[in-house]
Amino acid sequence: MNDHYQHNLETISELIESAAKRSERNIRDITLMAVSKTHPIESILKLADCGQTLFGENRVQEIERKFSKKFQHIKLHMIGHLQSNKVKKAVALVDAIDSVDSLALARRIGQESVRIGKIMPILIEYNTSNESSKAGFNNELEYFSFLDQVGSIEGVRVGGLMTVGPLGGDENALRKAFSYLRELRERSRTAHPELDFNILSMGMSQDFSIAIEEGSTLVRIGTALFGARNQ
Ligand SMILES: *Cc1c(COP(=O)(O)O)cnc(C)c1O
Repeated sequence: MNDHYQHNLETISELIESAAKRSERNIRDITLMAVSKTHPIESILKLADCGQTLFGENRVQEIERKFSKKFQHIKLHMIGHLQSNKVKKAVALVDAIDSVDSLALARRIGQESVRIGKIMPILIEYNTSNESSKAGFNNELEYFSFLDQVGSIEGVRVGGLMTVGPLGGDENALRKAFSYLRELRERSRTAHPELDFNILSMGMSQDFSIAIEEGSTLVRIGTALFGARNQ
């Protein structure tokens, strides 16, 4: 057990709980992912010792380096942009890919997963703030056309949507982005009742309370748990 990590984890959990209360939501519908990019495996294991089980990383090379050994008590999600030449490694190393933003990528993930006998849970990333630097679908036509086809890809299973809010955005801009994703999920459910959209992954250290008020079921928190990133 580590006092520092225990303290951070408790603080975050309390903030999650109060945001849930404010919006009359059940705390059990909100999951905390610890985003451990740039932090060493020793820190990850310390946080895991405090009871945290879900972790997120954004680079395949870093995942390979830190998770060369499998830790049974840790679940790991890929949350960063995934290049097709890294799919094979990613599929072998992670429990879910939360940043799928093209049909070609979903097909590659499906292929690799089938090959090694996995069904990979995926989230679809949507660019809700229209910042051109960001990954994710940013066009509804393309997104809905993706939904029309993803159900027939073997080896992947859609579980919901993911977005990164506008960086440094004010409260209005954040709420707008997060509520857009929530509404997009409702329209997706109507159009594709055969797909699962239960997970709404939104909210980071700076904006997770707002994201929860807007319906997030999965918050991805790095800095507020681990401290500033080592670059
Ligand atoms: C780094 C990262 C986070 C965590 O960011 P913090 O501000 O440190 O909490 C969440 N989601 C994604 C996709 C990230 O790349």
